[in-house]
This record gives sequence, structure tokens and C-alpha cells, in this order.
Amino acid sequence: METESLAKSDYRTTSQVAKHSRHEDLEQALYEKRQKIYPRQVHGLFARLRLSGVVVLMGMYYLTPWLMWDDRQAILFDLPGRKFYIFGLIFWPQDLIYLSALLILAALSLFFFTALAGRLWCGYACPQTVWTEVFLWIERKIEGDRMRQIKLDKAPWNGRKLAIKGAKHGAWIALSLWTGYTFVGYFTPIRDLGESLLTLGLGPWETFWVFFYGFATYGNAGWLREQVCIYMCPYARFQSAMFDKDTLIISYDTARGEPRGSRKRSVDPRQLGLGDCIDCTMCVQVCPTGIDIRKGLQYQCIGCAACVDACDDVMDRLGYEPGLVRYTTENALDGKAAHENPARA
Ligand code: SF4
Ligand code: SF4
Repeated sequence: METESLAKSDYRTTSQVAKHSRHEDLEQALYEKRQKIYPRQVHGLFARLRLSGVVVLMGMYYLTPWLMWDDRQAILFDLPGRKFYIFGLIFWPQDLIYLSALLILAALSLFFFTALAGRLWCGYACPQTVWTEVFLWIERKIEGDRMRQIKLDKAPWNGRKLAIKGAKHGAWIALSLWTGYTFVGYFTPIRDLGESLLTLGLGPWETFWVFFYGFATYGNAGWLREQVCIYMCPYARFQSAMFDKDTLIISYDTARGEPRGSRKRSVDPRQLGLGDCIDCTMCVQVCPTGIDIRKGLQYQCIGCAACVDACDDVMDRLGYEPGLVRYTTENALDGKAAHENPARA
């Protein structure tokens, strides 16, 4: 009797444990605690292209509402007056067809360029990428490079850490509020808005939108960063449907790089039976989404080409040919001609 009840209790315990462990598995599968990513600064052709994109796009965003046309703001979306001013043109609600045509054209262009050259939008022009670049730049200026940031985060809280973190967040918040103010300046004449701000006469809706847009900028570019691309962006999820074997993607050349391994600069890797990858992980350290491109194309890859610049730099130092990680197509990597797709044959 005692044995039976013990067996029953053992059974219950085992089944409860199994249930608990299944529950844990499910939890693990559904949620993984975020590991903070500290992208290493990278230099090179694509970094310069991205920087040019940031300067041009940010310049356009922050300066456009200050442009004048005759005696009014050149670009103003006057919602209460139901008029959109774009330089010399005035659009009324009945002109909605033009806006529809513009949006359709923008969507088709996005699909076309994605099919042709992959995630160009994500890597160079998406507001999330652009603002995150600026926030990262501020972070580097105040906290220092990647290693200093890691060290600072691990250090216990003290006056110095508080001052550095406070300065960074202060700068982020100031830029975010300026971003919110600029956004509202597209809908309310920005000079009048400035006067209202200085005399503390900002209306409730204007106040709400300045803070809401500012808060969204601070949260997305300062805190969430790559999580917006990985978990929140719908475009990231469906764009692979536009890829085919001739779409330009960023890839690691496995045939050339493997087997990877460290070696002395003076040694011929072929004699050691090694490929060109020295396993330095530079391509991983610069990645803003923290992935390893050597594992193949992943949906987390935003196509920023930071890993291309990082690896080219390593190849250059070793005296190897650049392009171990590069823009290429699946067909090119397989040594096939463009448009050669066995699925169509
Ligand atoms: S940067 Fe280049 S060499 Fe270094 S690990 Fe990445 S692929 Fe290999
Ligand atoms: S894998 Fe390369 S291209 Fe993709 S997000 Fe990371 S650094 Fe950018």
C-alpha cells in the first residue's frame, strides 16, 4: 500500500515535472531575453554610403519645414484648413487621387528595388536605421567605443557612470524632442510653433504629438533598436517573398572561407588546409542585429553591409582579395548564370 502510494506520488511528481519542463520549453521557444548588442564602429565604402544617406535624409527632414515659398511655409500639411501646400502647388481633399498614385508608385518601387537589390531600404534609408545610426553616434561620442561601453555597463553605479549615462540620455531626449517638434512643424507652421513654445502657449494636441513622436524616437532608436527590425517590422517578414536567386544579397562565400581558422599572416592558408576566413568575428561584432552572416541568409539581416566593410578590412590587412563577405546573388555563389532557376526549368 505504502509502495503503491509512493509510486503514485512519484508518478504525479514526474508528470508534474514533465509538464513544468514542457512549460519551460514553451517559454524558451516563445521568448528569449534580449542580449544587448554593442555594434563596433566600422569604416569603409558602405559605411560612407550609409553616412551620406543619414546626412541627406536627416537634413531633408529637419530643414524642410523651415523652407519658405512666397510668404508661407513651402511644405505644410494644413489639416484644419484641408489644404496641403507643396512649394507652388496646393492640394485639396478632392486631389486624394494624386496621393494614392504617389503611394502606389512608392510601394511598387519598393517592391521592384527589393527584388533587384534586396534590403536597400532597410540598410540605408529606413527611419529606424537612420535614427539608430545617429543615436549610436551620440552613444560613441559620450560613452566611447564598443569595449568602453561594455565595461561601463558592467561597472557598478557610481557618480561617473551616472554622469555619463545622464549625458547620453539627455542628448538622446533633446534630439528626440527636436524630432517631435519638427514632425509637428509639418502640420502647424513651424515658426508659429516655436513662438508658442517659447511663450508656453502650445496647444494640447501639438504638445501631445511633440511628446508622442519624441518618445517614439527615443524608445525606438535608443532602446529597442534591432528589436524593431526583428520583431515589429512587417516589411521584414514578407520581403523575402520578393527575393529570387538573382536578388542581390549580402553573403559569406563559404566555398572560399571554409574551413575557417586563425593563422599567421606570413603562412599560406592552403598549406594548413584552411580557407580565407580567419574566424576573427569582426563581421559579427559590427552587425547591428548581432547575427553571424557566415550562418547564411537570415531574416534578421537588414542588408546594411557593415559586415562587408569589416571583412574587406580584415582581408586587406592579410593581403587577401576582398569580397569574402559581399553583395552577390544565390546563382552567382552557386556558379550559375543569372536567371538560372531549377524551379522554373
Ligand atoms: S570578418 Fe571575415 S575573416 Fe573575420 S570572421 Fe568574418 S568572414 Fe571571417
Ligand atoms: S549580417 Fe551584415 S548586412 Fe546583415 S545586418 Fe548584420 S552587418 Fe548588416
